Amino acid sequence: MNYQLIRSKRKTLGLQINSNAELIVRAPNRLSVKKIEQFIEEKSSWIKEKSNSIKAKDVQKPSYKEGENFLYLGGLYPFTIQSSKNLSFNGISFSAEQINKDELLKWYKIAFKSIAIPRLDYYADTFSLPYQQVRLKTQKTLWGSCSGTNNINLNYLLIRAPMDIIDYVIVHELAHTKIKNHSKDFWQLVESILPEYKASKSWLKDNGYKLHNL
Ligand SMILES: [Zn+2]
Repeated sequence: MNYQLIRSKRKTLGLQINSNAELIVRAPNRLSVKKIEQFIEEKSSWIKEKSNSIKAKDVQKPSYKEGENFLYLGGLYPFTIQSSKNLSFNGISFSAEQINKDELLKWYKIAFKSIAIPRLDYYADTFSLPYQQVRLKTQKTLWGSCSGTNNINLNYLLIRAPMDIIDYVIVHELAHTKIKNHSKDFWQLVESILPEYKASKSWLKDNGYKLHNL
């Protein structure tokens, strides 16, 4: 993690994220770099959250005009105007007479249903992790959840992310049908199904805000 270190006569360590989403560390004159970096490490979740929320404010909302690019399964695809009422996707671009946020959300939800739900069922069947019901939502803060009675909610904006990210959220929630907390056993179960899950988890932390930008 990059940071700017400012030493002074102060007695305690202070962290600040400036308006460019950069980390500023204020430290006592004699505190060792090792101690400082340990502290940064401990606060890394807070730092990430804070800097992502600053970056998110900077991201421009899409214009919904011809040529605008939209995310789908991790790729960016342009919108082109064509004389059809319904939004369609041909693997290269999105097209319709016009596009707006509601139309796009509708399309994403249908796409999520046809692509992600079969994955959910595949993982549930293959790894004997049955669930009750699945509901699709768009939520600001959650990518998925699993209730005490094993009803699963999934955020269908995940269809904008690469497939391994969708798989990770699906497997995470399915693992909760068996283990309700985030204990060591829980993460072991997730890892036994998706050995590379840590990369997906951190991708989501770093890039999740982009999926919301609509
Ligand atoms: Zn969880």
